[in-house]
Amino acid sequence: MSEETTGKAPETGVAQPATTGSEPAAAGARSGGRPGAGGGGRPGGGAGGRGKFFRRKKVCKFCTEKIDAIPYRDVRLLQGFVAERGKIVPRRLTGVCTTHQRRLTRAIKQARNIALLPFATRH
Ligand SMILES: [Zn+2]
Repeated sequence: MSEETTGKAPETGVAQPATTGSEPAAAGARSGGRPGAGGGGRPGGGAGGRGKFFRRKKVCKFCTEKIDAIPYRDVRLLQGFVAERGKIVPRRLTGVCTTHQRRLTRAIKQARNIALLPFATRH
């Protein structure tokens, strides 16, 4: 009787030798919870902030309309190029070409003079 039955032999673990990924169903159920891990479909939505504010034609208005001599009497026309304070709007904003801008400033000044000093003051 040399057999020793103490401890009952550790047979645990041998009963189920098929633990090497033989059951993909269980593993798949776990990681399969989230199908699309890569959400968010924004491919660089950072649009430039500039240029959107003032979108006037970048072409000279007088050139497009073929206005050679700017009518200084046309106040409405001139007012489009004069700020509220009476400042002449810079070319950057209006998009007027240099030559027309010059004529425009002239016309505006002339209009100013006329507006400020209408003809002759009556005595
Ligand atoms: Zn022009």
